[in-house]
Amino acid sequence: MRVVCNGNPALRVKSLPVMSVTDEIRELARRMIVTMKENELPGVGLAAPQVGINKRMIVIDTRPTGRKEKRSEKKKQLSPGEMLLNPLMPLALVNPEILSTSAETETCGEGCLSLPGVEGDVTRPARVLLRAMLLDGKEVMVECGGLLARCLQHEIDHLDGILFYDRIPKEQQEAANDIMAELAAEEAMLASAQCKA
Ligand SMILES: [Zn+2]
Repeated sequence: MRVVCNGNPALRVKSLPVMSVTDEIRELARRMIVTMKENELPGVGLAAPQVGINKRMIVIDTRPTGRKEKRSEKKKQLSPGEMLLNPLMPLALVNPEILSTSAETETCGEGCLSLPGVEGDVTRPARVLLRAMLLDGKEVMVECGGLLARCLQHEIDHLDGILFYDRIPKEQQEAANDIMAELAAEEAMLASAQCKA
């Protein structure tokens, strides 16, 4: 599946809830996981609008990768969400919602497969209470911290038409504006090519 970039209208609308988990939804999840993994950038999450489909579903894989990361992860106290979900990753979450957030925040650099070349610092709540459905129809409600909490907020933003660019400081936005414009021009070209075909 092609990951759509800045300028594609699918990235700027509110996506609709998934009514029931059908074979079609499971197939979409499978293809999104492949798409997230095959990128040269290690994608830790992908939202359905990023493949041009405005449905409320995301796929995530925020497990520690490198040996060093794994070691530092061991020392950290994992949140209940990481303990529950890490063994299930890569994982699709249907109709994910954040029910509440911690007052404590963390600022961290982010990137996005739909905004290649753009980076910036985003301040977000450090912990969130997630409610979502899994592909087997089970509902989970769990407190998530660490990279998982950040990734969930970034991906759920996509379902509401929000990009991390919207949340970075003004001077970082200004620094990214040339790249944002280039990406939008490429998307416009692809869209008009598709119309002609
Ligand atoms: Zn993103």
